[in-house]
Amino acid sequence: MSWNFSTEPDYQEKLDWVREFLAEEVEPLDALFGSELVYDKQHAVHEHAVRPLQEQVKDNNLWACHLGPHLGGLGYGQLKLALLNEILGRSHWGPSVFGTAAPDSGNAEILAHYGTDGQKAEFLEPLLDGRICSTYAMTEPQAGSDPGQFECTAIRDGEEWVINGEKWFASNYRYASFVICMAVTNPDVVIHKGASMLLVPKGTPGMDLVRNVGLIGDDYGEGTHGYIRFTDCRVPAENLLGGEGEAFSIAQTRLSGGRLHHAMRSVAICQRAIDMMAERALSRTTQGEQLSRKQIVQEQIADAWGILHRFRLQVLHAAWVADERGTAGARMEIAAVKAATPGTIHDVVYRCLHLHGSLGMSNEMPIGAMFLAAPALGIADGPTEVHKVTVARQLLKSYAPIEGLWPSEHLPARREAARAKFAHLLELEVGSE
Ligand SMILES: Cc1cc2nc3c(=O)[nH]c(=O)nc-3n(C[C@H](O)[C@H](O)[C@H](O)COP(=O)(O)OP(=O)(O)OC[C@H]3O[C@@H](n4cnc5c(N)ncnc54)[C@H](O)[C@@H]3O)c2cc1C
Repeated sequence: MSWNFSTEPDYQEKLDWVREFLAEEVEPLDALFGSELVYDKQHAVHEHAVRPLQEQVKDNNLWACHLGPHLGGLGYGQLKLALLNEILGRSHWGPSVFGTAAPDSGNAEILAHYGTDGQKAEFLEPLLDGRICSTYAMTEPQAGSDPGQFECTAIRDGEEWVINGEKWFASNYRYASFVICMAVTNPDVVIHKGASMLLVPKGTPGMDLVRNVGLIGDDYGEGTHGYIRFTDCRVPAENLLGGEGEAFSIAQTRLSGGRLHHAMRSVAICQRAIDMMAERALSRTTQGEQLSRKQIVQEQIADAWGILHRFRLQVLHAAWVADERGTAGARMEIAAVKAATPGTIHDVVYRCLHLHGSLGMSNEMPIGAMFLAAPALGIADGPTEVHKVTVARQLLKSYAPIEGLWPSEHLPARREAARAKFAHLLELEVGSE
């Protein structure tokens, strides 16, 4: 077994290129174009500014790195992707320029994995090429983290599926060309065996927007998270993605990777916050000295660095485990990283905000949007509590209850066992007295 924290020189060269390219070419997009436009592929900025940048990314063999070679990607694996994403996550546009933006990355993954040739041609190819964007619709208004309460159904009628029900918080529905909808196809079995995935092109009669839902700070009716209603919405039978009843295993394929990728990008958010803290501490003077000379400020900076460093190692380790055993084999590590993400962002970005004083609270810094990632990532892809339960359950599998009354660490019992083990020595000791 070897331990090694270095990056292959060839790949490090690529990462150095990414860092410079992002700062010079991509981050200016953040300054001029809102994050919402990232998914509005019809907007002129895509054709004129983003596509040329995407071509450079492709030329550097860094496009859509989240997909393995058997799925049409480059197959760098999760660890290398982590090193890439911890740079890209600084920028709203970064993941899109590199073809790894959520939720399209996860949707591409399941289409590549489970799609038929026809589905790949119709949905995956334009998605992978960055020409369209997509939506994943699982959550319902009355239930998110408890799928047992899902009510949206799809009933087979001849050569069609007929969908009825509602979906809530379907990100980017506003700009999506198609929706991957989880629906109950067999209400007589448990939801984990009775739900299926259906591909619904935008514009299909019966799939309607109730309203766009925004995040905190957006005006009412603004935002890109669709509240969708299906009313006798018919799609052809061949729009079933994967097998009937397979929705949850398909969802797992997409969500595990997605959770890990959010964590990787969160490293970038926190690193950006620390960069800002350090610059501010060295630049601002109060009571005759730089902020950086005040010990409590130093403590805040040191704590922020420590929090991020521990989290980053946890993320890289989870990525490594996923490479070794697949995302299913890294279930505990990914759940642990997902549970740690919101607290890490909160603890680091809050320190950054506070150090900037009124400027930190203002709308003239990016800190507010960075801070909002903490609660958002504590809920999106399942609330923290659910992931902590996963960690605990996985961990407990490798333990067994002790027989008898006392714990195995009970000192009197241990002493008794040790006494029995070393009885001959104890006898010698007594004999020599
Ligand atoms: C930014 C963002 C983007 C999203 N994008 C999408 C998307 O594209 N597609 C999609 O389908 N959904 C999306 N969602 C929805 C998301 O998946 C759900 O919000 C999430 O699964 C939680 O469901 P809920 O909102 O119904 O909360 P609930 O299930 O009502 O949970 C609310 C709270 O109850 C507590 N709780 C829940 N379960 C447990 C438990 N087992 N143990 C202890 N406490 C618990 C937790 O405190 C939790 O935060 C998005 C959400 C956000 C915030």
